[in-house]
Amino acid sequence: MTTVKSSNLGYPRIGENREWKKALEQFWAGTLEKEVFSKRMEEIYLSHLQKQKDEGIDLIPVGDFSLYDHVLDTAVMFGLVSNRFEYSGGKVPLETYFEIARGTKGAVAAEMTKWFNTNYHYIVPELDVAVPTLVENRPLHFYKEAKRKLNIEGKPVILGPVTFVKLSKGYKKSEFRKVVEQFVPLYARILCELQTEGVEWVQVDEPILSTTLSKEEVALFTDVYQTLHEAAPDIKVILQTYFDSLEHYEDIVKLPVQGIGLDFVHDRGQNLTALKSSGFPQDKVLAAGIIDGRNIWRANLEEKSLTLTAIAEIVSKDRIIVQPSSSLLHVPVTVKNEEKLDGTLKDALSFANEKLQEVVTLTKGLQDGVKAIEEEMKSSTIAIQKLNQSPLRNNIQVQETIQNLAEYKAKRESPYEIRKGSQGKAFQLPLLPTTTIGSFPQTSEVRKTRLTWRKGELTDEQYRVYIKAEIKKWINIQEEIGLDVFVHGEFERTDMVEYFGEKLAGFQFTKFGWVQSYGSRCVKPPIIFGDVSFKKPMTIEETVYAQSLTDKPVKGMLTGPITILNWSFARDDLSRSAIVNQIALALRKEVEALEENGIHMVQVDEPALREGLPLKREQWSSYLNTAVYAFKLTTSSVQDDMQIHTHMCYSDFEDIIDAIKALDADVISIETSRSHGELIHAFEQNTYDNSIGLGVYDIHSPRVPELEEVTRNIDRALQVLDPKLFWINPDCGLKTRGIEETIASLKVMVEAAELARERL
Ligand code: GLN
Ligand code: ZN
Repeated sequence: MTTVKSSNLGYPRIGENREWKKALEQFWAGTLEKEVFSKRMEEIYLSHLQKQKDEGIDLIPVGDFSLYDHVLDTAVMFGLVSNRFEYSGGKVPLETYFEIARGTKGAVAAEMTKWFNTNYHYIVPELDVAVPTLVENRPLHFYKEAKRKLNIEGKPVILGPVTFVKLSKGYKKSEFRKVVEQFVPLYARILCELQTEGVEWVQVDEPILSTTLSKEEVALFTDVYQTLHEAAPDIKVILQTYFDSLEHYEDIVKLPVQGIGLDFVHDRGQNLTALKSSGFPQDKVLAAGIIDGRNIWRANLEEKSLTLTAIAEIVSKDRIIVQPSSSLLHVPVTVKNEEKLDGTLKDALSFANEKLQEVVTLTKGLQDGVKAIEEEMKSSTIAIQKLNQSPLRNNIQVQETIQNLAEYKAKRESPYEIRKGSQGKAFQLPLLPTTTIGSFPQTSEVRKTRLTWRKGELTDEQYRVYIKAEIKKWINIQEEIGLDVFVHGEFERTDMVEYFGEKLAGFQFTKFGWVQSYGSRCVKPPIIFGDVSFKKPMTIEETVYAQSLTDKPVKGMLTGPITILNWSFARDDLSRSAIVNQIALALRKEVEALEENGIHMVQVDEPALREGLPLKREQWSSYLNTAVYAFKLTTSSVQDDMQIHTHMCYSDFEDIIDAIKALDADVISIETSRSHGELIHAFEQNTYDNSIGLGVYDIHSPRVPELEEVTRNIDRALQVLDPKLFWINPDCGLKTRGIEETIASLKVMVEAAELARERL
């Protein structure tokens, strides 16, 4: 009898009620003792394993659980601790582990960056801090624990050596191979010890196999996995890829491993095509990622069964493992508790636990024939159909508009040179104008007041009065500081996406749909479930009120279409470009409303433009074209004297500079201070013709910058940028900062700007 196996790649850490987050934060705050904390974390972790077992998963991942981040876990397993932190060898203590992640008074935290094209952030390992040694066989520890305590024969999960080094810093790119080779013996030892312990399956994650790779890198994979195979020939390694199709399919499936894990959801059909045209080695197992590990929609089990059947024509059933497309880290835990959601919508959702059930069902269908899962298939189809046909999802008018997009102008009336003239006349700004990025401190008082209002303990009117008082306070502060362009401060917003999602049609919000973003920080992405449209003005009241209090121009503040899309769970029955254009058309109405109400500067933030970049280079231009078009659709229906700003908070620009230019924003403000001059360098090589504001101080720390420091940043920028096009602003919004430090820092910034003007 053939037995098809079900598997999982990773389970959310945070817990159904974010108990993981709570325990962590209590421990950091010192209100939970270390022993209690460790015990609690163990309980959480074991309960997750038990859950997967109860759902009927055969290969349960162990070691994917983390107290902060799995990349950091891998780094500390190799003793990679910078001497900024206290560490004297051996297993890295818990305290040190958190110091690396969060920093200490005297030592900055390790850098953090996005995990591929997700909104999860990992800690960037520093390889120049120590010679790697294996200080702890972490996967072995987790394997043994699962076996001892729950009698679970786990599948250890390890981040593979090539991806690990690729994601790290502190070495020369030309030495990539050499550095990877340093780690290979350590990985060999891990696998050897697992083999001795009797482990059958190991999942070695190499997601960079789904990115664009060079020939040398493919050759490196061959050598590395040959060595590992020789070191532990009896253990069954599944080389796991996800988030896109496998590059260099033919070379990679030949590697001496026992299984290859492929993503059949986010591969644009390419993995199945490769499988059909090149076949699959007879001696290997195919771990088929069939349930979407990144999105929250219930799977159409009929369609998924068909895909599995197509796969089974090439790979015999007993060599297929059914699993999600990636770790379930990127989705919330369970739909079960979402009692307030509309029934039709709820029925069409699937979070981690529900996805495990889908995996198990599909496994059964593949093993016993689809008849065995007929009922489940039918009910999934019905649920999805119901949502698709629901009036909640469909707005004919929006759909028609999207069909006729060509009727909407997506290019400003006049070129920048001309617009600049009209705007210059209208605003009469000094050279090197100063401004901020939008938000002012969201103090605990602001947040508390919002909460009381949400609970119904404060009337709408009372809340409005409170927000207006905050706006007024900060308009006065901006006058006193002497800034040139003001903002209203964003006090009414919890979050830059949620705020707009709540006001636009087509969005829904869950109660418990949290996912880990970094460390203990969780986000609750809105669900774009239906056609998006403008209902009523979203920012007019606050902006117009702010403008009424001052003669200085007030900049309206919107979140851009691609950022709203990238930070939401989007429907999967419509292309992403159609969704983003719907959002853009809705925002366009807001821009128009601002203009009609006398606001002539609007900033459309796109901080998430870069993170949506596809894994594969050849897909970049299509993504960027879509993003640029949506931005222009949002911002092009206005008069020449409307000054459109945009903001992005990262500084690696060189490779997307053409797209940035194509946005044709009148002013762009970008983060600079953490880029150590790299950004300036990018502008040395590229001409940027519109105005640009470089962040002259870092807002991520409470530190008030020194005058010389800000001056140095301004002068450095002025060496390459035309002073007539240059703006002065902080790196990003100030919502996470305290009031006093914000005022003090902005005063330094304004003083530095005045001094710079004198020198011109
Ligand atoms: N306008 C937003 C703010 O100031 C921008 C935030 C961001 O770039 N992430 O908060
Ligand atoms: Zn920013």
